[in-house]
Amino acid sequence: MKSCESLGIFSERQILSESVTTEELLSRIDELNQRDDIDGILVQLPLPSQIDTKKVLLAVDPRKDVDGFHPVNLGNLLSQRPGLVPCTPAGIMEILKRSGIPVEGQRAVVIGRSDIVGKPIAMLLMHKNATVTICHSRTKDLPGVCREADILVAALGKPGMVTADYVKPGAAVIDVGISQLTVRADVERYFPGNAKRMEEFEKKGSTLIGDVDPASVYPVAGAITPVPGGVGPLTIAMLMVNTVRAARLRRMP
Ligand code: NAD
Repeated sequence: MKSCESLGIFSERQILSESVTTEELLSRIDELNQRDDIDGILVQLPLPSQIDTKKVLLAVDPRKDVDGFHPVNLGNLLSQRPGLVPCTPAGIMEILKRSGIPVEGQRAVVIGRSDIVGKPIAMLLMHKNATVTICHSRTKDLPGVCREADILVAALGKPGMVTADYVKPGAAVIDVGISQLTVRADVERYFPGNAKRMEEFEKKGSTLIGDVDPASVYPVAGAITPVPGGVGPLTIAMLMVNTVRAARLRRMP
């Protein structure tokens, strides 16, 4: 909402009760689908357990689906047709482009196979002619596979799990994970001698960490996205891009 305001995009937040039913949520989405003054709809995930999330995502008009999670948009991505691309993967491609990191012909390894990060980023990297491997919780010898990567995308949601033995020296590492450290010993372990982090922890009782162990990986990687301040801000920026694109696509189909 802050980004919308700074860009002059109208935004409206609708907060529903936690006990909302799937039907109630679907009818709210239908109203937004019908409203001509609304170009983008974002359903904040995760939804409460009584809600059928797949049904809800399917109900969003694909032309207003600024998260890019509707099967129509995922199909457009797969078959390289114009559409709305999921924001985090789109943001990662923007980071690679603006950092001058070559993609074509490179070995890319993605850890994580979710519909919102792992699968779409693998597809985008492949469309830019990288040779892509997707790893997940059942992958054998994960560090060995990851060490083959020129570009390593960590999107598994396991704080600090990716250490130096996962990283080829000089590789570009994209840390997508966002987790909170709430135990002092963990903060001391992951951020040794980092006075700023300790200060933040003292003040807020927590600090953020990605899937990458920074103290271990920073000396080995050729380039790396920080957490916070790396992939996250780009996700928001791409949400804004998708909103403008959705507005254009609906008026100039
Ligand atoms: P998810 O839980 O849906 O998927 C995680 C994936 O990681 C799964 O496919 C699983 O197979 C794999 N995985 C889990 N444990 C593993 C292990 N030990 N070894 C190998 N693979 C393993 O998560 P998600 O929605 O894709 O999000 C991943 C992380 O990225 C989370 O920390 C989330 O908060 C973060 N995230 C950040 C942004 C951003 O803007 N920076 C956006 C979306 C998600």
